[in-house]
Amino acid sequence: MTSKELRKKFLNFFEKKGHKIVPSSSLIPTDPSVLFTTAGMQQFKNYFLGEPSPYGNKTVSCQKCFRTSDIDQIGNNTHHTFFEMLGNWSFGDYFKEEAIDFALEFLIKECNFSSEKLWVTIFKGENGILGDKEAFEIWQKRGISKEKIFEFGLKENFWGPVTKTGPCGPCSEIHYERREKPCEKKEKCGPNCECGRFVEVWNLVFMTYNKNKRGEYELLSQKNIDTGMGFERLVSLIQKKDSNYETDLFFPIIEEISKISGEFYESNKKFYRIIADHLKGAVFLISEGILPSNVERGYILRRILRRAIRYGKLLNLSRGFLISLAQKVIEIYKDIYPEVKSKEADILTVIQNEEEKFEKTLNQGLKQFEKISAKGNISGLDAFHLFDTYGFPLELTEELAKEKELSVDIKGFEEAFKKHREISRAGVEKKFGGVGKEATYEATKLHTATHLLHTALRKVLGEYVKQMGCDITPQRLRFDFSHPQKLTAEEIRKVEDLVNQKIKEDLEIKKEELSYNEALKSGALAFFKEKYPEKVTVYSINNFSREICAGPHVKKTLELGRFKVTKEESAGAGVRRIRAILI
Ligand SMILES: [Zn+2]
Ligand SMILES: [Zn+2]
Repeated sequence: MTSKELRKKFLNFFEKKGHKIVPSSSLIPTDPSVLFTTAGMQQFKNYFLGEPSPYGNKTVSCQKCFRTSDIDQIGNNTHHTFFEMLGNWSFGDYFKEEAIDFALEFLIKECNFSSEKLWVTIFKGENGILGDKEAFEIWQKRGISKEKIFEFGLKENFWGPVTKTGPCGPCSEIHYERREKPCEKKEKCGPNCECGRFVEVWNLVFMTYNKNKRGEYELLSQKNIDTGMGFERLVSLIQKKDSNYETDLFFPIIEEISKISGEFYESNKKFYRIIADHLKGAVFLISEGILPSNVERGYILRRILRRAIRYGKLLNLSRGFLISLAQKVIEIYKDIYPEVKSKEADILTVIQNEEEKFEKTLNQGLKQFEKISAKGNISGLDAFHLFDTYGFPLELTEELAKEKELSVDIKGFEEAFKKHREISRAGVEKKFGGVGKEATYEATKLHTATHLLHTALRKVLGEYVKQMGCDITPQRLRFDFSHPQKLTAEEIRKVEDLVNQKIKEDLEIKKEELSYNEALKSGALAFFKEKYPEKVTVYSINNFSREICAGPHVKKTLELGRFKVTKEESAGAGVRRIRAILI
């Protein structure tokens, strides 16, 4: 069975059982407290708490997920940055018994797993939360003998919440027995044993609690089901492969690396796997409009891309190797996630730019690293120098140091980083301070114009355009934004026209105070580099522009005069810079 067939089989199975198929949500969650979507339930969180679900009370999905927590373990059999999660949900509809029945029916009838190979775990009770006797009895009634039911505490068998508060509950996992012979632990060798005899397949969460701000578990008013099954792992079991990397979700990428290097995958599995994993992760992040940068999501993207480039170098892969690998990734997923195909040009441009940019400094940086490391452990200042001058993410320096059994002074790095930032901030303030009333008004006008420009860019180029930086003097504005290639003259003209049209409409600039979450919900754009307070000000210009901003702004757009772009240039990989004036 191919992975495509399996994905479809899962969705259809639950659709036949009355579940609504819900498409995967974005990798960028609406909840601003988390960086990436890491589980299928995230988009349904509120329905567990009783908010009515627009999809009905039973849903099923295959969710795109991205995780960086175990990035160091990538290269073994089962860890990935990008992965997919299959899941079925009940919001106050069916509960434990049906959830267990569905799971067993799917695995045994649809996937042809022998019921003999299925072992389970249940929650034994801990911290005042009762053990799950009910699940124990249901499993036994369904023919799982009690020797195959293992009990664990909070750490293994209690799921969630994703953040500090939210829905959570005891869970029960189904594990698949890969080989019959137990390890030296004999009858104690069961699910979660480190010997590798078992592999976790499916987690059924009985979502009945809400963890509140005080850290207490309160009972929810309804009983919910939340399940999660790692898709890559299921595919590896169905396709009878020892590793997820040998399934049809990865192997075409691995084969391409082999083709470029002229060597066998078996000669260095770990490096092949890291490159394949990171490239896939990068393709999906870029398809969501994320671009390499030095903060937050952009930094994660830069980190995995640069790590892949470095491993590519270790395998002597020729320059530009990332492009053909990215095309393989797109080939594998284009029918399932059409955004990877529709954004193909952007994805390839961004990857190529980042490769070219890092290629220039990587060799020199590696030489520099050799010099520094010859003296012993890496100081914070040296790590910062590698970051600032040679574009080495801190984690890369750490990895290089680890290979030589050296350490890196992380605290020192952070201090150097902070100091550097303070110096550049002080420079900005100096430039602005004491410029007089007239000049302040000019700057206010230019700042207001950036709001119009931001929206105009998004309308002309695409919704993925994000503000990456901004600098105002009384004479001109400078606006950096994410976009993979040079703007055409036609695009610049369209942007100017749209801004000028909005100026002419003499629109009023309105101000509201909202909580940060309300502001985001209301569609206000936020600048991701910024840490926002609980309460924020949202400025809107008619229904054209809506942004979280501290101001100051003019009252009506006609005050701005005429907007003119004076220059368009690159401001780093995937970032463009516009300079403009008001005349
Ligand atoms: Zn064992
Ligand atoms: Zn503003």
